[in-house]
Amino acid sequence: MADIDRMFNPRTVALIGATEKEGTVGEATLKNLLIGKGKHTVYPVNPSHESVAGLKCYPNIAAIPEHVDLAVIATPASTVPEVVDECGKAGVDGVVIISAGFKEIGAEGVKLENEIRVIRAKYGLRLLGPNCVGFARPSAHLNATFLRDNPEPGSIAFISQSGALGSAILDWATVSHVGFSMFASLGSMLDVDFGDLIDFLGTDPATRSIILYVEGIGNAKKFMSAARGFSRTKPIVVLKAGKYNTGAKAVQSHTGALAGDFEVYDAAFKRVGVVRVDEIGNLFNCASVLDSKRLPSGPRVAMVTNAGGPGVVASDAVTDLGGEMAKLSPDSMKVLDEHLPPYWSHGNPVDVLGDADVARYETAVGTCLADPSVDGLVAICTPQGVTPAAELATTVVRLAKDKQKPVLTVWMGEKGVAEARRKFAENSVPTYPTPEEAVKTYMYMYRYKRNLDLLYETPEELPVDLMPPNSHLKLMIRRAISGGKLLLSQADADKFLDAYNIPRLAGGFAKGAEEALLVARRIGYPVVIKIVSQDVVHKSDVGGVVTNITSSEMLAHEFAKLMDRIRILKPEAKIDGVYVQRMAKDVDYELILGSKKDRDFGAVLLFGSGGIGVELFRDFAIGLPPINQVLARRLMEDTKIYKALAHGLRNKAPVNLKTLEEVLVRFSSMVTDFPEISEVDINPLSVSEGKAFAVDVRILLDPNPIDRSTPYPHLVIIPYPTKYVIPWKLEDGTDVLLRPIRPEDEAIESEFINGLSEETSRYRFFNIVRNLPHSDLVRFCNIDYDREMAIVAEVTEGGRRREIGVGRIIAEPDSKRGEFAVVIADSYQGKGLGRKLVDMVIDIASEKHLESIYGVVLRENQPMLSLCREMGFSLHPEEDYVRVELPLEVEAPAQGQGQVRSHVKPATTKTQGQSQEGQGKEAEGMSQ
Ligand code: ADP
Ligand code: MG
Repeated sequence: MADIDRMFNPRTVALIGATEKEGTVGEATLKNLLIGKGKHTVYPVNPSHESVAGLKCYPNIAAIPEHVDLAVIATPASTVPEVVDECGKAGVDGVVIISAGFKEIGAEGVKLENEIRVIRAKYGLRLLGPNCVGFARPSAHLNATFLRDNPEPGSIAFISQSGALGSAILDWATVSHVGFSMFASLGSMLDVDFGDLIDFLGTDPATRSIILYVEGIGNAKKFMSAARGFSRTKPIVVLKAGKYNTGAKAVQSHTGALAGDFEVYDAAFKRVGVVRVDEIGNLFNCASVLDSKRLPSGPRVAMVTNAGGPGVVASDAVTDLGGEMAKLSPDSMKVLDEHLPPYWSHGNPVDVLGDADVARYETAVGTCLADPSVDGLVAICTPQGVTPAAELATTVVRLAKDKQKPVLTVWMGEKGVAEARRKFAENSVPTYPTPEEAVKTYMYMYRYKRNLDLLYETPEELPVDLMPPNSHLKLMIRRAISGGKLLLSQADADKFLDAYNIPRLAGGFAKGAEEALLVARRIGYPVVIKIVSQDVVHKSDVGGVVTNITSSEMLAHEFAKLMDRIRILKPEAKIDGVYVQRMAKDVDYELILGSKKDRDFGAVLLFGSGGIGVELFRDFAIGLPPINQVLARRLMEDTKIYKALAHGLRNKAPVNLKTLEEVLVRFSSMVTDFPEISEVDINPLSVSEGKAFAVDVRILLDPNPIDRSTPYPHLVIIPYPTKYVIPWKLEDGTDVLLRPIRPEDEAIESEFINGLSEETSRYRFFNIVRNLPHSDLVRFCNIDYDREMAIVAEVTEGGRRREIGVGRIIAEPDSKRGEFAVVIADSYQGKGLGRKLVDMVIDIASEKHLESIYGVVLRENQPMLSLCREMGFSLHPEEDYVRVELPLEVEAPAQGQGQVRSHVKPATTKTQGQSQEGQGKEAEGMSQ
């Protein structure tokens, strides 16, 4: 599919449905398009006019004498399919459909949309809308909307799904002088969606932050990849509609009942570092401050004010919103005592009193900012009598500029502070009309920073087998689905837990009383018996769980009573038997660990307080699989019960968090491996003597067929690609493990880079790189395995793992070309590893359907150049480097038997080979 760059950076624009008739969409759009006349050529199209607005008018798109990059369609809905078809035929790159009258009007409109969808796909043209306002790029003088006001240029990109809300916000922004790098309304999102635009804006130099008004996300996978790729450099702030009307539907599991849209969206945003706000005003407050390089490193706020009241209000807001009022250091207190009048507040908020002059205010602000126990500052000024509001503002601007800490200002009032506000705005010092807004924004800044830090924290290694044997489980699932048994029995579900090493209580299925006695004898008393029936979901609701059975007599007796009870309470239930389970003793906590499939984001994980009151507590957190140790810990931290788990509660011991993390990670890998699982609950996951184990597990299978065209159809985040874990041997026989890089590899990656000779380092990085900071290493190790893949070669030396080489491929956002790089530790060069890594890179790129890969190689890096030459790359010498390129897609032969994909000579493509036979002879002395 074509990328969207052409349509959003058009040199030629056609307006289909152009007219001069006042008050029409066609007229308004034409006027807007003509604003940027010098920058792009505008071609009006309308069969019933010879000319409009003094321009020659064309009868149809085919009549336009040159290639059209963008066509804006403003004709009646019923004509749109035909118009899109004409655009496709004419080779237009992208269309914007601003016409309304589609999905929103009912069945007829849906039919039209479907027609358009098919036509669009046929030509591969890109499409924005329908039913949208269009888009504008103010700094490029491009306005392809029918908005009355032309948005001002600025650095914020604003993408709104709803056109109406978008234009209302835009109105508001115009009044508030907020400028935009782009405004786009997405409408029905037939094609271009949030993910596409984030990709586009991520590399747009005019855009510093992105705000989104979201009703539904579109392609969630695309969104996650795009957001994850850019949220670190360009803050993405989201307002999601529908906070209150999207409760989870009634479902068979607790997880299903708890994890509603709101919570799932929240988890997804968090996972990619996107900031969610809940008011329109916050969208802009955040977008303008989050792009500053001054993000607070902690929650401790200092406040300087010249009036008591606003200071109190602001400090209340700090506490309410989860921040902290900074406790000023004794040194700061000393300075303030010396310089402020005796009745100053003697603490934070620092009240410098109503008669404060510039010098006094300056001392207070300067002292607080210099204090190491302060993370950020809110400066408040209420003009009283002779207060020099504007002069104070100038001083604060100066102080704010030389410190790294964020300074937010609140100059209260209207006329008296207009000049001060202008000063703040000019100097990009955030300013707000009320203390609450300032504090709220501070907290968003802090959360954004913290989220990014946590997200890219280096996880610890966990002893977790990510590839347990599981084909017996796949068989079991197939049998269950074909037999129509979607609810797995606990005995079957146990097999999943065992395969993934999730601890559980001993237990087994028994058909009748006799068998139950046998099982009980095997596992030992006391035991619990539970009813087993496809028709009973919540067993204790129908008296289907009997605990603390201490003897065989008691078991026989309770068994009979249980059967009687169920027959009375659930006469229609077909009873299979009972599950006999060991009784857990001294349970300190009951937790829940579950998963369900969300409509947009696929499988999600849930962790929280469990037991039979789970829906009452509603104490849970949602995460997206796959998770590692850090993410598992975060999931736990986001619940109320976490404090008790970590520190214990009265007479209850704390839990071993390490092993609990392991359980979560293992559970996540189970969910990852089985797209057939629709819902699963481990409830309770009980904790006794600090250790967690499953007590009740319920697995519900998905009756719908699973789309097998992608490996993880139920996930929006690609899991660790175990298929690229390959044992291999160097030419000298050394055992090497080739595997995708992981976030946990930061230490060995750093060691590897530091250990490269100067020459090798320069060959790879074009200068000598040593001691990279965490923020850079994270970028190397924490990749999405979708757009970016890195294969490390690992050897074990004296019991220690060591990285000896890495091959990396990064697909460009439009996903057609990828850039690769390979580097080998000096002492391992010339042993065939470079060739192997290049070869794997080629295979990976082919699997991703890239059309070509390229690399940049220094001229003097002869070994790499000869390797590339040998592997079929074409070499393009530039000034001091050589661009090497390899096409991966080969045009289908004329008769068209599908596309033939081939890369290099067969001898060099043995990725799976574990021996080096057939590896060929390699260019000697290769550095990269
Ligand atoms: P359901 O959730 O279908 O009602 P459970 O198996 O979860 O059935 O049992 C309900 C409750 O009974 C659990 O939340 C737990 O408190 C208690 N319970 C169940 N099995 C055991 C056991 N083996 N040891 C101790 N308590 C148990
Ligand atoms: Mg239960």
